[in-house]
Amino acid sequence: MSKTDKVVSLYDNYIMKTYKRVPLCLEKAKGVKVWDIDGKEYLDFFPGWAVSGIGHCHPMVSDAVSKQAKKLMHVSNNYYSEAQAQLAEAIIKNSFPGKVFFANSGAEANEAAVKLARLYGHDKGRFEMITMTKSFHGRTLAMITATGQDKVKHGFEPLPVGFIHVPYRDIEAVKAAITDKTIAIMLEPVQCEGGINIPSVEYMKALRSICDEKDIVLIFDEVQTGMGRSGKIFAFKNFGVVPDVMTLAKALGGGLPIGACVAREKFQDVLTPGTHASTFGGSPIVCAAGLAVFAAIKKEKMIANANSMGAYLKKKLEVLKAKYNFIKEIRTMALIIGVELNIKGDSIYSECLKEGLLINCTQDTILRIMPPINVTRKEIDKAISILDKVFSKI
Ligand SMILES: *Cc1c(COP(=O)(O)O)cnc(C)c1O
Repeated sequence: MSKTDKVVSLYDNYIMKTYKRVPLCLEKAKGVKVWDIDGKEYLDFFPGWAVSGIGHCHPMVSDAVSKQAKKLMHVSNNYYSEAQAQLAEAIIKNSFPGKVFFANSGAEANEAAVKLARLYGHDKGRFEMITMTKSFHGRTLAMITATGQDKVKHGFEPLPVGFIHVPYRDIEAVKAAITDKTIAIMLEPVQCEGGINIPSVEYMKALRSICDEKDIVLIFDEVQTGMGRSGKIFAFKNFGVVPDVMTLAKALGGGLPIGACVAREKFQDVLTPGTHASTFGGSPIVCAAGLAVFAAIKKEKMIANANSMGAYLKKKLEVLKAKYNFIKEIRTMALIIGVELNIKGDSIYSECLKEGLLINCTQDTILRIMPPINVTRKEIDKAISILDKVFSKI
């Protein structure tokens, strides 16, 4: 029995089966590389669903976390801590004037955004939220309701009221869905789980002006797109459209669990004492990690790298597209990459795994490739050669 088999059997006995898992038990990681418990090495081009956005165990993050772990790990939010203040400042200085609420996950960050919008609309009797089909916003009851995909809702009805879905990138559908009860529009600036769907600048600008005109809160879920992967620190900057509320999670904590709901000045004081809270939210240890992520991105010029390596990876994938006719389309925004196939992608995923490359397949036919934003040309070349080998066997 391998070490992996032993762990798998413990899972079989003691862990709820809420995930489809492959028998890969990871033991350690460094940058773009991970090793399983039996010693096999992999190149990770989908690090923890984009959580390890600056690579696994970045030394600046590991150092900040271990230092903070010896000093102060948790304080109640009835007190102050320096790390929480400094991380909020870093987020605001990199986005727009406003304030931050810290939570522990993407779904929780979105819950805070939805509660903020509901509270803002409450006295006007406005509570409806417009979200997009093929969106993904998390797994709490409100967020499976907000998510525009039936597969996450089945069996959990009755769901909370007041969420309306419209097709993504269809401005007329948004206009038609607005009523005098509409309080917010929530969307991902690039749909990731939904298949790497990238909206136009015009669409985003039109959303902004509708929201301005009708006093609707525009919420961008940047849980997956945030922290440099889009070629800007936050994806909204690619569209020249500033949201009223932005939510963050995944890569923000450099591997530690964090969520953040960021509100522009106009909305920064809507949530007041007693209206929202989180016991663990913004703990010193997690915020120290987040600060180290910002510092590492700046020090190592990772945004520039995301742009140049995004372009390089795209070029290499285009070469594969010319070679293999089952590749239908390549969609990219820097290192947010989707390769749409006209065949199912799950066997490609598992063949890549065997060859030592971790990627993802979403919506059955779309390979999602999101290497850490400090990925190198050499690592991309290696990943491309594995993909080429796997594709050649189809
Ligand atoms: C992952 C994700 C979420 C949910 O985050 P959790 O931390 O799993 O709750 C929400 N929105 C988007 C866009 C995501 O990618």
